[in-house]
Amino acid sequence: MSILSLNNIRKNYGPIQALKGVSFDVPKGTVFGILGPNGSGKTTMLGIIMDILRPTSGTYKLFDQVPDETHRRQIGTFLETPNFYHYLSATQNLKIAAAIKERGEEDIPRVLEMVNLTQRKDSRFSTYSLGMKQRLAIASSLLGNPEVLILDEPTNGLDPVGIAEIRTLIKKLHLEGKTIIMASHLLDEVEKVCTHVAILKKGDLVATGNVNEILANEDIVEVGAADISKLKMSLERLSGYNSIREQDHLLQLFYPIGATNLESINRHCFNDDIVLNHLQLKKKSLESKFFELTN
Ligand code: ATP
Repeated sequence: MSILSLNNIRKNYGPIQALKGVSFDVPKGTVFGILGPNGSGKTTMLGIIMDILRPTSGTYKLFDQVPDETHRRQIGTFLETPNFYHYLSATQNLKIAAAIKERGEEDIPRVLEMVNLTQRKDSRFSTYSLGMKQRLAIASSLLGNPEVLILDEPTNGLDPVGIAEIRTLIKKLHLEGKTIIMASHLLDEVEKVCTHVAILKKGDLVATGNVNEILANEDIVEVGAADISKLKMSLERLSGYNSIREQDHLLQLFYPIGATNLESINRHCFNDDIVLNHLQLKKKSLESKFFELTN
């Protein structure tokens, strides 16, 4: 089942084309990253899904159906910077949120436990760190136990500890079977927590699919020796890789996934009288893939 299917969604703000006909599917049970630099249309897309904005054209489905309020009630959202009453406690703030959303006051202890704030549930919001505030906002989106969560830049502004806590929380929610759709401009974040990704560039979808497949469609073997020209001539006689490139006084061999054999590369060079001073298998990083796609 698809949690969300976008079909050729366009959104214009006057002459600005924020989304230029975007289509993709979010499978159930995934952590789905919408990745793109600032201004690529991520927030606009989340706004359309949550019925805050109307698309200029195109359609979308939620839970394989034409969306209505009953579908949106199964989605918890964290779209803006948390906005709680500073002089009230976490529990009091969540009671207000539950009343506004008409869902889940009895759920408050569970969601506080989920985001690891039970011990601080009676502290005033004003005494919370930014990371705790962010987690309280996610707790609020979890009220009523929605099947799907939509998070817009959930680690924005947090320090490394705060970021790690949010990532742990997202992984925990994923293990519980929730589908999480999150917008992010952070490659590293998407690589670390997402199972699937859609990459946007200036309103266009440039790639979508399983993160591992999108990122690591090739393995890279870095090879170095004192005489790079001799090494290159030798490696050009070696078969099995797709392409070869020189970078930073090393040669990079691009192999299909799983097709590398470091020992045979080493033996081949040794037989050509070349002693390697560097031989390393590297995964293609999201960063290089991202720049390849968006530049
Ligand atoms: P960011 O990470 O900076 O929030 P984003 O990827 O979420 O970026 P959007 O906020 O969706 O991107 O913006 C996409 C484009 O639409 C940008 O060029 C932006 O300036 C423009 N835009 C967004 N909202 C409006 C608006 N209300 N009126 C006019 N233009 C807008």
